[in-house]
Amino acid sequence: MQKSFEVENRLGYRILRWILAVALVSGVIVSAIQVVLDAQRVSADLDNQAQQTIAMVRDAATQAVFSIDADLANQVVDGLFAREAVLLAQILHTNGEPLSSRERPKADSAFNPLINAIFDSRRQFTTVLTRSGDPGTVYGHFVVHYDTVPSAHIWLSRAMITFTSVVATAVILGMVLYFVFYMLLTRPLLRIVDSVKQVNPEHPDDRLVVTPTGHEKDELGLWVSATNTLLIAIGDSQKRHREAEDKVSRLARYDQLTGLLSRDSFMELLKADIEESKHNNTLLSVIVCGIDDFKSINDQCGFRTGDFTLQTVADRLISTLSGSRFTIARLGGDQFVITEKGLKDGFQAADTAEAILATVSETMGLEGQSISMTATLGIALYPSDAIQPDRLLQSAEQTMMLAKQKGRDHFQFYVASIDQEIRDRKQLEKDLSEALALNQLYLVYQPQVNLETKRVIGAEALLRWDHPVRGLVPPDYFIPVAENNGSIVEIGQWVLEQACLQARLWADKGLPLRIAVNLSAVQLRQDRIVDDILGTLKRHDIPAGRLELEVTETSFMTNLADAVAKLHTLNRAGISIAVDDFGTGYSSLTYLKKMPVQHLKIDKQFIRDLLVNEEDTRITNTIIDLGRSLNLTVVAEGVETAEQEYYLTQRGCKLAQGYFFSKPLRPADFEAFVQEFHQKTVENDA
Ligand code: C2E
Ligand code: CA
Ligand code: CA
Repeated sequence: MQKSFEVENRLGYRILRWILAVALVSGVIVSAIQVVLDAQRVSADLDNQAQQTIAMVRDAATQAVFSIDADLANQVVDGLFAREAVLLAQILHTNGEPLSSRERPKADSAFNPLINAIFDSRRQFTTVLTRSGDPGTVYGHFVVHYDTVPSAHIWLSRAMITFTSVVATAVILGMVLYFVFYMLLTRPLLRIVDSVKQVNPEHPDDRLVVTPTGHEKDELGLWVSATNTLLIAIGDSQKRHREAEDKVSRLARYDQLTGLLSRDSFMELLKADIEESKHNNTLLSVIVCGIDDFKSINDQCGFRTGDFTLQTVADRLISTLSGSRFTIARLGGDQFVITEKGLKDGFQAADTAEAILATVSETMGLEGQSISMTATLGIALYPSDAIQPDRLLQSAEQTMMLAKQKGRDHFQFYVASIDQEIRDRKQLEKDLSEALALNQLYLVYQPQVNLETKRVIGAEALLRWDHPVRGLVPPDYFIPVAENNGSIVEIGQWVLEQACLQARLWADKGLPLRIAVNLSAVQLRQDRIVDDILGTLKRHDIPAGRLELEVTETSFMTNLADAVAKLHTLNRAGISIAVDDFGTGYSSLTYLKKMPVQHLKIDKQFIRDLLVNEEDTRITNTIIDLGRSLNLTVVAEGVETAEQEYYLTQRGCKLAQGYFFSKPLRPADFEAFVQEFHQKTVENDA
């Protein structure tokens, strides 16, 4: 209950005050009347008693005066003095001489002033003494004084009791009423007040006022239920209000036909998406999608069909492009717009564009009629094409219009060069996906030579793609594509398979060569990679020591612990690990120490300008020294000249490969090369 609600403000307390006041005042008035009446009665009683007493002794007093009998007079007076209230008693002769007289002091009382005021200090009675036979003859006088104090004291104590009981009754009544009032009204009311405070003004009908227990049927219960009825009514009306508001804003925010976002709300979201992309340093694509020849659908089949196709396209876009990175809106007419955020490159936008084209071009049925249509897309990229939302959308719209002039059912990027590049790569991706099945891939082997013994100790397997139209496509071009779309996993497994097959063939022919196979970072990330490699070795019955895996430093970096664990397993099985392109990446000693590495391959870019460029020479020297101190074999790659070979040999580099010895060769050529090379070595030695 609330603190600030002071006790003296409570209704119960005020009632208590009122009752106390009224009970006290009325009690005081009533008791005052009682006391006054009592005082009159006491006063009358006093007189009566005195008269009776006097009447009782009157004859004896008359006899005493008549016969002048002092003894009898004294007897009468003493008899009277037995009464406490008698102050003075005198029997007097007619001349005023006392026959007998006695007096005692008045009793002392603190209430004397009050008593004197009401009852007088004393009551005096004087009786004429006559004989009954002769009432005309006066013999003397009989004087008695009575004290009022004893009677007054009795009266006073009665008055006190009357007053006290009136006050006590008033207080008890007030307290009882206060308590009853508190229990029946104040407490339940305060509970109701608490409950009312919990009511949420936004949603008054969410939490209604609670009726205090036991008050369900009384006035409080009625009040609470009336309040609740009111709250529910207010809540209802608020809800209707909100719904109406929502409807209005939805009408503005959404396209009525398709339920997609309207242009305005799309622009707002685009602005936010651009901010997000800027913050995350990612690309964003805006794809404007125009239905091809929508006008003729409308003309031939009617507006209803036209509306139906637009709704269908909207539904398909929503289901194809699910996920929070997409925003889909209708720009108006037959145009839709899609944004995709969090892109790595334009190729991902091209993937989305292809998905859109595919979903739009699926035939749709309406009333037994089948309708097929296509769309043309214009794509603009943030930040390369524009950085403002309106410019970005404008670029995509323009591109779509341009693309429509060139044909239908295709997409186009805003920048022509990017468009070409992406188109090429898309085509390449498609061709590559078929290359394996169409037998367009094969491996060539480049000999690795021991510089000391001048003997071929192994070969690096390198992938070739003989494209039916383009001819030989360089692996530097298509491997990144395969890595990007994941097909490197399948291709890499095929390479491993081929390399092992070749190693087996050569071993059978008495050529026990170590084959180095390039392992892509994407392959290394696969959970199954270790099992796949070990399984392949086993299947071809190749000792693990015959296989070397070339990995680049970048492959460790995404998930170091995972890469270390996998390479360790492979290494423990006997496979040797070489760090490819060493010196071009981060070349961190920390990695090197953690990795189970046996070989460092100096990249061909350093060997190319060896002895010409000072820095390249220094890097080469450093790598050779590092290999020596870490006990790793160093392989020089891209050796093209005798000078390079001589220098590397002198500097202590153990192995080399390069055009100086041989280009990568087909297996048969490789065998011939080895034979010839060893022949030469033997001749030179001799
Ligand atoms: P890499 O692993 O650094 O391979 C060495 C590249 O240098 C090969 O190019 C090879 O032909 C070339 N090369 C060898 N000696 C010389 C020389 O004396 N002078 C010059 N200028 N070049 C020389 P290639 O075969 O075009 O391969 C390029 C890259 O493609 C490779 O670089 C490797 O990263 C990747 N790659 C090739 N085959 C595979 C494969 O089967 N799997 C994976 N994941 N990547 C591969
Ligand atoms: Ca390599
Ligand atoms: Ca290399």
